[in-house]
Amino acid sequence: MTHRKDQEGCAVLTVGSLALDSVKTPLGKVDEALGGAAVYSAVAASFFSRAMVVGVAGEDFPRQHLEFLESRSIDTQGIQLVPGKSFRWAGRYDYDLNQAHTLRTELNVFSDFHPVIPEAYKDAKYVFLANIDPGLQLEVLGQLRGPKLVICDTMNFWIEGKRDKVIEVLGKSDIAFMNDAEARELCGTTSLVKAADVIRSYGPKVAIIKKGEHGALMFTDHTHFAAPAYPLAEVKDPTGAGDSFAGGFIGYLARTDDLSERNLRKAVVYGSTLASFNVEDFSLERFRRLTYPEIMERYKEFKHISFFEEVDMLDPGHVIFHHA
Ligand code: AMP
Repeated sequence: MTHRKDQEGCAVLTVGSLALDSVKTPLGKVDEALGGAAVYSAVAASFFSRAMVVGVAGEDFPRQHLEFLESRSIDTQGIQLVPGKSFRWAGRYDYDLNQAHTLRTELNVFSDFHPVIPEAYKDAKYVFLANIDPGLQLEVLGQLRGPKLVICDTMNFWIEGKRDKVIEVLGKSDIAFMNDAEARELCGTTSLVKAADVIRSYGPKVAIIKKGEHGALMFTDHTHFAAPAYPLAEVKDPTGAGDSFAGGFIGYLARTDDLSERNLRKAVVYGSTLASFNVEDFSLERFRRLTYPEIMERYKEFKHISFFEEVDMLDPGHVIFHHA
């Protein structure tokens, strides 16, 4: 696999779904387009670091989708191609784009998939257990030799169907990602602050709660950090926002190999940056034309939109309102 200049540092190992998604939003629709948690997260991570994917696809999975991953120098030897139909997900969003309505989940080849981690992946230091059956997340962890950072994600489908396994995965993870509705559902509370405490009591030192167009919160032992979402005039398709966030987050950490709180905060903003680009178009379309300078530019804008001064009553600064 070619080593790209923009993918220095450690590599990211991602396990999760590879999907053919059919999605309808108020701004359009796609049928059987490239999707899946592992795909969004690996492609987002690949803007910062090398990425390796573990997953399964059926014989109907278009060859050009794998070629696209390879064109981003993503290592695909951990993707098993097996007889049968690929995983499919169908969903709809209404005007509240934070709320995905699942119409169909067809596990297909995922029903009897067991991940086999290639030898070359076993020493991976940065691991993202993207949305997939939590039993499979555990099987992946069981095959690794001492990862430095394990991040896990999940969704309501698994919280409702395999709650105990979700909690077991949390017990083996350093950082947990969840969206606000999932955190409330898992923890049985309306308060995200309390939910973060419950999530952290299961094991992870850090809980990151994504709030869609309202940004993301990161809770650690002693602080919490709030990042805004980028204010976009038009969101075409929110599918994959969470995975793009996670991919940008872990990709940046792997590249810098620095787990200080300061750097985690930067990673949250890089995650938000990648998510904000992804939702500008359907499927992976925006990522196909996204450039590194665009990412840097938007990161700076994030700083700008959330910057404010220290408390200082004496300096009114730039005057916005001129009252008579
Ligand atoms: P999100 O970042 O939460 O919007 O993730 C969207 C992706 O998750 C879609 O591309 C779907 O293919 C995938 N997905 C949906 N349901 C599941 C599931 N039960 N297990 C694994 N992946 C799923």
